[in-house]
Amino acid sequence: MIKFFDTHIHLTDFEGISKNALMEKLKRNGVEKCICVSAHRSDWEKVAGLAHDFPFEVIPAFGLHPWYADESNGRWKDELSEYLKEFPESLIGECGFDALKSRDKDLEEEVFKTQLELAFEYNRPLLLHMVKADLFLEHYWGRLPEKSVFHSFSGQDELLKKILKFEHYISVNKCFFKKKNAQSILEKTPLEKLFLETDAPYQSNIEDLGYVLRQVAEIKDEKAEKLGEKIYVNTMRVLIDD
Ligand SMILES: [Zn+2]
Repeated sequence: MIKFFDTHIHLTDFEGISKNALMEKLKRNGVEKCICVSAHRSDWEKVAGLAHDFPFEVIPAFGLHPWYADESNGRWKDELSEYLKEFPESLIGECGFDALKSRDKDLEEEVFKTQLELAFEYNRPLLLHMVKADLFLEHYWGRLPEKSVFHSFSGQDELLKKILKFEHYISVNKCFFKKKNAQSILEKTPLEKLFLETDAPYQSNIEDLGYVLRQVAEIKDEKAEKLGEKIYVNTMRVLIDD
């Protein structure tokens, strides 16, 4: 069975399924490891609990999503730092900027900058939610950690050029393959810069990683098993072991 590493899943947001049943479901679908991201500040404690209960399968990511930037009050930065210290393998995210849903750009940018600072301070990869963020990103190229992952990459050529120029990474889910240019984007993306995700329970389902892998395998003209192994090993190397 092909083993998968889902680099973006919201394990805290599944409804009507117990933690154990959810972990069983991951296993049944070949998902050996996953990065459980946070969106709300209130997710941090739940994500920490999952990482504590399932230390092999769940790698935690702590962050504040741009949609919820208004949760950044009081000691939020200290709290976030405490989780990062408690889980040395944890990542930061998801964070970023979403021009389609922006309500208070100054606040959202401040929240993003804080998480960017923490990424350098604690030497952690950043999991980025960037939507229509070209203008926003203009200020940040060359200032992001190399290990910045553009989650749910949606296929803009110019953006990909910048991402690759600065040695960053993209992560794709099932939705990516609806884009007309999915093939050309993946042809231009070195395998070492590509991760697979579901963004479950939102953009796709746990079961969809196989579909994503088969699509990538076809474009890269490789056998799915072999490609799956390469991507898994590379994901571990880049996001976990280094
Ligand atoms: Zn997400």
